[in-house]
Amino acid sequence: FRHGEAYEVVVNTPNGDVVFGEHHPLIVVAGPCSVENEQMIVETALRVKAAGAKFLRGGAYKPRTSPYAFQGHGESALELLAKAREVSGLGIITEVMDGGDLEKIAEVADVIQVGARNMQNFSLLKQVGAQSKPVLLKRGMAATIEDWLMAAEYILAAGNPNVILCERGIRTFDRQYTRNTLDLSVVPVLRKLTHLPIMIDPSHGVGWSEFVPSMAMAAIAAGTDSLMIEVHPNPAKALSDGPQSLTPDKFDQLMSELAVIGKAV
Ligand code: PEP
Ligand code: MN
Repeated sequence: FRHGEAYEVVVNTPNGDVVFGEHHPLIVVAGPCSVENEQMIVETALRVKAAGAKFLRGGAYKPRTSPYAFQGHGESALELLAKAREVSGLGIITEVMDGGDLEKIAEVADVIQVGARNMQNFSLLKQVGAQSKPVLLKRGMAATIEDWLMAAEYILAAGNPNVILCERGIRTFDRQYTRNTLDLSVVPVLRKLTHLPIMIDPSHGVGWSEFVPSMAMAAIAAGTDSLMIEVHPNPAKALSDGPQSLTPDKFDQLMSELAVIGKAV
């Protein structure tokens, strides 16, 4: 799996190039689970930018367990992300679920996310591999490291070398106190096995906002290159993943704490 030495993924954002890689500062991606309306996404973008995040995340197309749950605002949410990008200068990371939407997502997104549930959607992997935007590949909730690296290989083999690997927790047996089990052992293991940059998502990893800061700090101690943190201006009212979302104030606090450990922001 290791293709030479540590590889950098360089992403062009309105605020300039942002580099993901072992020998670069920690990159923080933050924002709501879903793009809900213009005010919340713009407000969140400005707050996370001020705190030091380099990317705004937010789902337009949401992979929900229930077909009756909020599915994301789709195309209109992409327009809101474009607006937030323009206002804040942050890069945008948003998920593709259907290859048919890829072109319009790529017009707005600086990095295209393939979510945990699509990690082995091989036709989607080939499609994101055949376009030029960098890809954030989340680990499937029951994927082995080998499964995950081979999924990344699909993207690389299709011609796109810019893949970032994101651990977001795997399914184990506790669902009561943690949503998933955040597998931080992947950090040194991936470092040994692959040249690709590493991201840790403690929000989906633990599922409860109060546990996110500890695991974010642990991820840095383990040597991650980047973090993904869900932030919502009013978590109690969020249309998805409210319980695991930090308020902007809590995010500010976390960012100041992160700045003093390991790889500085
Ligand atoms: C998300 O990032 O909001 C998401 C749906 O993540 P995952 O694919 O890791 O569940
Ligand atoms: Mn989410």
